[in-house]
Amino acid sequence: MAGSRFAYVKKFELPDALLPSTFMVFRLDGHSFHRFSDEHRFVKPNDLRALELMDHAAITLMQEYKDISLAFGESDEYSFLLRKSTALYNRRQSKIVSTLTSLFTSSYVFHWPKYFPDVPLRYPPSFDGRIVLYPSQQEVRDYFAWRQADTHINNLYNTAFWALVQQGGQTTTEAHATLKGTVSKEKHEILFSRFEINYDKIDARYRKGSILVRVETPEEPAPESSNTPTPNVKSTEPLDETLKAKKKKAKNATKVELLHTDIIRDSFWEKYSYLLKD
Ligand code: ATP
Ligand code: ATP
Ligand code: MG
Ligand code: MG
Ligand code: MG
Ligand code: MG
Repeated sequence: MAGSRFAYVKKFELPDALLPSTFMVFRLDGHSFHRFSDEHRFVKPNDLRALELMDHAAITLMQEYKDISLAFGESDEYSFLLRKSTALYNRRQSKIVSTLTSLFTSSYVFHWPKYFPDVPLRYPPSFDGRIVLYPSQQEVRDYFAWRQADTHINNLYNTAFWALVQQGGQTTTEAHATLKGTVSKEKHEILFSRFEINYDKIDARYRKGSILVRVETPEEPAPESSNTPTPNVKSTEPLDETLKAKKKKAKNATKVELLHTDIIRDSFWEKYSYLLKD
């Protein structure tokens, strides 16, 4: 149809390449997960199954897209850092956002029964996605610090809120009223004095969120001369090529690790400084 008289309509499609040499942060967030979590009976304040399913879908994305070096997840959202130098889909914004959002969503649905064996999906969930560009490492660090600070604020509030409801016998309206205007220290105090909950002892997964880092796996040892006889080939070229390919593979082999640690302080970024390299 390329040469048809209709082809001019293609010209209405505008290019949408993202600025070169800038960090991309791709964030997605569950659409109306307040309702979705209600309808699928998520445990409050934190449903572990749902968080682990989010992590799984995020790992799927990092396995498929090697230019994602780091990710951070909390609640129904995940943020992914793409290398400054990434040429993924020629940096076309719509293509990246739609493909990554779609793969995350399909992985979430695909793996749902593993995490919720007794809860059939009542309707298809969806996620929104966006990309924000950051020019330097400082903004990238501050972006992730912002998300982790958000995790802390939300989790402290939700932990106190649901303690008042589930253990304190308050209605949700009463719990809202109890917490209205309280500062962090007062929420800690409510949790400790009324419910003997030491907030700092709560699982780091809930307090810190999920961090996925790409780490290089150590190079595999060179294959030993095994019992398998060396194939009798005239030219060594194909073998060399295979070895080269193997070596390259080992060199670039990476795996994804899941952490629940502080990413606001310097120590994380000192240890993982390579994640911010080009
Ligand atoms: P929007 O479409 O604007 O994002 P939303 O209803 O998804 O609306 P969010 O601000 O994204 O609103 O909040 C997501 C909500 O999903 C949380 O407030 C919480 O109620 C629920 N939720 C998500 N993950 C979990 C979880 N693991 N355990 C319990 N509840 C969860
Ligand atoms: P891109 O990721 O760039 O879209 P693509 O491989 O999806 O690459 P398309 O131009 O979208 O390329 O073409 C989709 C291809 O999928 C078709 O060329 C065809 O080979 C195959 N395909 C899609 N739907 C059908 C179908 N119903 N029956 C048979 N083949 C199909
Ligand atoms: Mg929202
Ligand atoms: Mg949401
Ligand atoms: Mg959200
Ligand atoms: Mg296609």
